[in-house]
Amino acid sequence: MRVLALLDGTIADPDTPLVRADDLGLSRGDGVFESVLVVDGQPRELAAHLERLARSAAMLELPRPDLAAWERVTRAVIDAWPEPGELVIKLVYTRGPEFGDGGTTAYALGLSIPGAAARKRAAGVTAAVLERGYDPAVVDRAPWLLLGAKTLSYAVNMAAMRHAKTIGVDEVIFTGTDGTVLEGPTANVVLATGRSLRTPPPSSGVLAGTTQGALFRAAESAGWNTKVEPVDRSELARADGLFVVSSVRRITRVRVLDGVDLPDSTDLAAELTGLYESEY
Ligand code: PLP
Repeated sequence: MRVLALLDGTIADPDTPLVRADDLGLSRGDGVFESVLVVDGQPRELAAHLERLARSAAMLELPRPDLAAWERVTRAVIDAWPEPGELVIKLVYTRGPEFGDGGTTAYALGLSIPGAAARKRAAGVTAAVLERGYDPAVVDRAPWLLLGAKTLSYAVNMAAMRHAKTIGVDEVIFTGTDGTVLEGPTANVVLATGRSLRTPPPSSGVLAGTTQGALFRAAESAGWNTKVEPVDRSELARADGLFVVSSVRRITRVRVLDGVDLPDSTDLAAELTGLYESEY
């Protein structure tokens, strides 16, 4: 199922061509996006997604997005979605046609969520640690690398996911050249030890995750200690629980890391999922 809406809120036929062949989003990945989870008609963390869209756009020096219009178009897709249950809405914002009048390209596309996400959430996943190839210290020095922006240039992320498939694992956890943990290609990494949750900081070039943010908010209210700080790669296997979290995955536990069984975190995953869900 697909529902497409233009930024003015008009619902469009998803089979109608919308993006020009010279769009810089297509030819150079020059644009930004968001993926918003909607459950039973309610978008989750919409304000945080829109703020991140604006932050990413600012990093690319795109015209400041009209967040009220993006909120309206998100709700237009939700209103036009014909089924109960879950969907993901992709908000896509590009620099527009290379040989156009300078206008940007902007649309929202609602999509069904493949059943695999829920199956992996229930069963847990296997993961491999892969190098991302940068030192987190470069983030401040080289803003043109756009580390921490959710750009349309996801070819590297998708290649890492294909590599995971080739070596027979479900997920990837990236590390920096300094040996610290970064994030997954489309998820944040969270470790639980005792009543503490940790995640690597956005200053290391990872995305500030809306799901991680919601989980930490709920956990703090329930008396957990939360820390956003560098995590060494060697700490991954020592935690009571290791999780990949994102809008579509929600809270998914890692069962096996680099071929080694991790401590059973089934109960912990249920508890953290309960906390995260309590936000909605
Ligand atoms: N990190 C990356 C690189 C991502 O692409 C995503 C989401 O797609 C995340 C983290 C998790 O972000 P969120 O929880 O806001 O979906």
